[in-house]
Amino acid sequence: MANIIGSPERYVQGSGVLAELCKHVQSMGKSPFILVSESGKKRVEGSIASGAREYNTKLTFETFRGECSRNEIDRLGSLFKNSGCDVIVGIGGGKIHDTAKAVAHYAKAPIVIVPTIAATDAPCSALSVIYSDEGVFEEYLFLPRNPNMVLVDTDIISKAPARLLVSGMGDALATYFEARACKQSDSGNFIGGKYTVTSMAIARLCYDTLIADGVKALAAVKAGVCTKALENVVEANTYLSGIGFESCGIAAAHAIHNGFTAIAETHHCYHGEKVAIGTLAQLVLENADTEEFAQVMNFCLDVGLPTTLADLGINEIKVPELMKVAELACSPNDTMGNMPFAVTPRMVCDAIIAADALGREYKAKRAK
Ligand SMILES: [Zn+2]
Repeated sequence: MANIIGSPERYVQGSGVLAELCKHVQSMGKSPFILVSESGKKRVEGSIASGAREYNTKLTFETFRGECSRNEIDRLGSLFKNSGCDVIVGIGGGKIHDTAKAVAHYAKAPIVIVPTIAATDAPCSALSVIYSDEGVFEEYLFLPRNPNMVLVDTDIISKAPARLLVSGMGDALATYFEARACKQSDSGNFIGGKYTVTSMAIARLCYDTLIADGVKALAAVKAGVCTKALENVVEANTYLSGIGFESCGIAAAHAIHNGFTAIAETHHCYHGEKVAIGTLAQLVLENADTEEFAQVMNFCLDVGLPTTLADLGINEIKVPELMKVAELACSPNDTMGNMPFAVTPRMVCDAIIAADALGREYKAKRAK
């Protein structure tokens, strides 16, 4: 198996860059088809339009109906075909990005992704998650290429709720540890190859950036301002974590996250919040170095990521329930098999309970 790294052709990030969207899109097309939510349009239309006049670009906006489903992808595909547009732009959160990526893939058109939140590492990836019209998971659509461009206006991100940035940090927190596990087990990545030295270095840089700037970035977003620390963390959440997970692979942390999705009490939690608990449990499974574990735990506590089951909404520990989570996490079509040693549901269940106990201990120490 070859060593393969994938990434968007271009990554643009900065305060106010949305006004330059039309300038950056020039190399791909003259007439963008912009997929956005009703409320999102109100926030972005003005700044995009100012750049459109300068570059003589015709804008076509289309409202997203809320679900990345086959019906929505088909609907948008025929609208795009009849619109005379030549490039697709998806502005908003994960479902809009996934829909826009799928529409562009079937239409063989260039695709630009514009995240307005930094809550996950999905924008840079060559993957769409398809749901039914009712929002039930249906399939992963693996795309042959990453987006042509990802453009992130950090001014917009800094105005989004702080919890979304924190959730993005939770997702990014797992990247290095899952990459390391995949390296140790010599497992494959998401793009049909194995890690490269570059993708491993990117995964490590992702973790180091969170530790260096996470707390400062959170303070900035709480104050609604854009600082260098926030810029760095947005890049870590979006780009470093995106390349890191896709080109290195994932392991226990995300498998445990997927297990938790079966527990109704956790449904109010964001993806990255559950991934944070999955990361702590993975470190327990690996019996990670005490100092390393402490750094991850303290980071979670510093930025307000969940560290206990109660934080996820599970107030009473029921072993049979957690065994269900563990069994799902160990299912053969998930990524637990990328761990460098054999993992049983019993081991996962024990690791979750131990991680929860450690979380409570660290919290108690801080309360003193
Ligand atoms: Zn994730």
